[in-house]
Amino acid sequence: MITGKNYIGVDTSAKNSRTYSTFNPKLNKPTEWVFHEASQEEVNAAVDKAAIAFDTYSKFPDAKKAEFLKAIASEIEALGDELISVYVQESGLPEGRAKGERGRTMGQLRAFASLLEEGSWVEATIDTAQPNREPLPKVDIRKMLLPIGPIAVFGASNFPLAFSTAGGDTASALAAGCPVIVKSHPMHAGTGELVSSAIAKAAKKTGMPDGVFSNLNSSDSEVGQLLTMHPKVKGVGFTGSTNGGMALFRLASQRKEPIPVFAEMGSINPVVVLPSALEQKGSEWAAQYAGSIVLGAGQFCTNPGLIIGIKGQALEGFITNLGNEIEKLEPTCMLHPNIYEGYEKGKKELSSQPKTAEVAAFKGEVAPNFAEQKILTVAAKDFLDNPVLHKEVFGPFSIVVQCQDKAELVTVIQHLEGQLTGTILGTETEIKTSPEVVNALVNRVGRIIFNGVPTGVEVCPSMMHGGPFPSTTDSRFTSVGTSAIRRWVRPVSFQSWPEELLPDALKNNNPLDIMRLVNGEHTKQQL
Ligand code: NAP
Repeated sequence: MITGKNYIGVDTSAKNSRTYSTFNPKLNKPTEWVFHEASQEEVNAAVDKAAIAFDTYSKFPDAKKAEFLKAIASEIEALGDELISVYVQESGLPEGRAKGERGRTMGQLRAFASLLEEGSWVEATIDTAQPNREPLPKVDIRKMLLPIGPIAVFGASNFPLAFSTAGGDTASALAAGCPVIVKSHPMHAGTGELVSSAIAKAAKKTGMPDGVFSNLNSSDSEVGQLLTMHPKVKGVGFTGSTNGGMALFRLASQRKEPIPVFAEMGSINPVVVLPSALEQKGSEWAAQYAGSIVLGAGQFCTNPGLIIGIKGQALEGFITNLGNEIEKLEPTCMLHPNIYEGYEKGKKELSSQPKTAEVAAFKGEVAPNFAEQKILTVAAKDFLDNPVLHKEVFGPFSIVVQCQDKAELVTVIQHLEGQLTGTILGTETEIKTSPEVVNALVNRVGRIIFNGVPTGVEVCPSMMHGGPFPSTTDSRFTSVGTSAIRRWVRPVSFQSWPEELLPDALKNNNPLDIMRLVNGEHTKQQL
């Protein structure tokens, strides 16, 4: 049952009388649930509890944290149909998507649990002493990764489960040994509350310290800003708009003690279509890309918003086919009227730019908050001259850029901002003979895709979901997959430290049986 209260540690409270409701975009009316805006007092209480919890939680063995993560997954599953029903009502997304995302969320939690159970993620590195080294003796130094402290996580609007309350940011921070305070996304506070209740239950069942997790409701920016500025918060995870991410990044860097903000923001995910791709299966690519552009009403950070090709008959055919396919697809509901309005505004702004032409747009009747897809085309020269056309339009919208030749195509790629993904369509032979295209794209993106679509982000150790600015604030880290844990840790060296006082990961007899780098060699052997 949804109470609208905040989770301060593992118990609920509601101190503030200011309230708000979530919205059902399909019915185009508010939901029945009322949420209490977290007060400053509640923000402070949640952070104070998290800071106290950090003292014990950060020192728990990995196996104990793994139990907690697995228990969260089970408790989320135990929420059953109520979670799916609330998710669907608050997001306008279909039941199949809700169930898929729930599976992904539980899968992520269990993947981090496995990482902890295996244990080598701490990157234990040992260089033993050489007392007789000439001209100076070498001391014993041992290094490992340790958690940084309480983390503030901002739930994302477009993934109410997998990138929100118990999503990748929370799972990775808890795995690292960092307590988490979630600022729930105001568009799906009910979903967030149910998941918070599951986390609180799991925390109690597995003996976690009170304060290991809190969930704060808020529908304006104040709570998020208070959290980011709080001296006891040591890092921030965010997925959302460039404005929101950059506002938090600036706040965090102006603190007396600046802290990292790992913000995943906008991306238009360029797709380079080489002539060989169109000659071989142009109509198939057109159908596949129409599907990718409208998938989830285009509300994915990996949505293909830009297609770049070389002028000619093949590209013309592709554009016509893409237009035909796009017009056939039925529009779907967006997450919220605000997202819908943002989409309409962005679409209008880009469509009204000089020298652009409409390829296709859905023209039928649609219900409120349903996104009508649209495709534009523009010559590369005009695209290069107009930065407005480089902006992300969050929704089912894409621009086809037509270049004179390969050299111009490379120039277009080089002038793009940093992106999460880049895709190349073409034969292996043509890609082999186009290293300048591949190099230009690799320099702009975090993940480069060969003959595929960018939508669909696999959760696995090799996934990179991040990219050069402004797609994220730090291109060295991913927010998806188990390496996301690296955002919440720092390396610490123990020099000449007595054996019995060393953390288990660094002890001579390797009691955790983990892979370590010992005197330059990867090994599980004891010293
Ligand atoms: P958002 O406006 O950036 O909000 C995300 C979260 O950050 C919310 O909890 C919001 O809280 C908070 N926030 C935003 N600005 C803040 C500020 N200045 N100070 C403190 N907290 C702040 O994103 P959204 O609501 O999810 O969607 C809005 C637009 O963001 C979309 O239309 C789309 O363009 C973009 N978006 C992009 C992606 C992507 O992956 N590329 C994903 C989602 C959204 P409050 O609302 O309570 O202020």
